[in-house]
Amino acid sequence: MAKTYTLPPLPYKYSDLQPHISEKTMTLHHTKNHQAYVNGANAALEKLEKSRKGEAQIDIRAVLRDYSFNVDGHILHSFFWPNMAPPGKGGGNPGGKIGDKINQDFGGIDKFKAQFTDAAKTVEGAGWALVLYDSETDQLVLTQVEKQNNMHLAGMPLIVGIDLWEHAWVHDYLTDRPKYIEAWWNVVNWSDADARFAKVSH
Ligand code: MN
Repeated sequence: MAKTYTLPPLPYKYSDLQPHISEKTMTLHHTKNHQAYVNGANAALEKLEKSRKGEAQIDIRAVLRDYSFNVDGHILHSFFWPNMAPPGKGGGNPGGKIGDKINQDFGGIDKFKAQFTDAAKTVEGAGWALVLYDSETDQLVLTQVEKQNNMHLAGMPLIVGIDLWEHAWVHDYLTDRPKYIEAWWNVVNWSDADARFAKVSH
C-alpha cells in the first residue's frame, strides 16, 4: 500500500499573520481548502488503483485531471505556508543569496516587487503568481498560474509565491485583491525563499 498525502501543520498559529491575513482566513484555508486538496488527491489515486484491479470503471481523463488539480493544490499550499512568516519575521527586504540574486536578475528589490505585484494583480480568475528558479539560464523567473494544475510538471523549484484564489483573501479584503497583495508583502518569508534558493542554485 502506497503512502497517502497528508495535511502538513502550519509552522505558526492561525492568528500569527494578523493583521495582514486573518485567523478566520488562515483556519478555513488550511483546514478546509488545503485538506480538500489532500483528500481529492488521495481519492483520485485510489480510483486509479481500483481501476487497475478491475474493481471500478473510471473516466481516466477526468480522474487524472482531478489528480493534477488536487495534488498541485497540495504541493502549492505546502509551499505557501512556510513561504510566509509572522510580520516582523516576514516582510522587509531579502538578504542572503536570494537578496543578491534578486538584485542581479531584477535590478533591485523595488523593481522585483513592482513586477511581481503586477503579475499577481493580473492573474485571470483564480490562480497564483510564483517565482521559480530556472537552472538552465541560472535565473529567477516569474510565472502566472491559472487555477493550479500541472505545476509539478514544470520541474522548476518554487522560491516565492502568492495564492490569489479568493479564498485566500476575500474574507479580509472583499473585492480588493491589490490590497491583499500589498499586505502580503508584510508576511513573505525571505528566509524560507533564501533556503529554497540555496538548495537549488550552483
Ligand atoms: Mn489556496
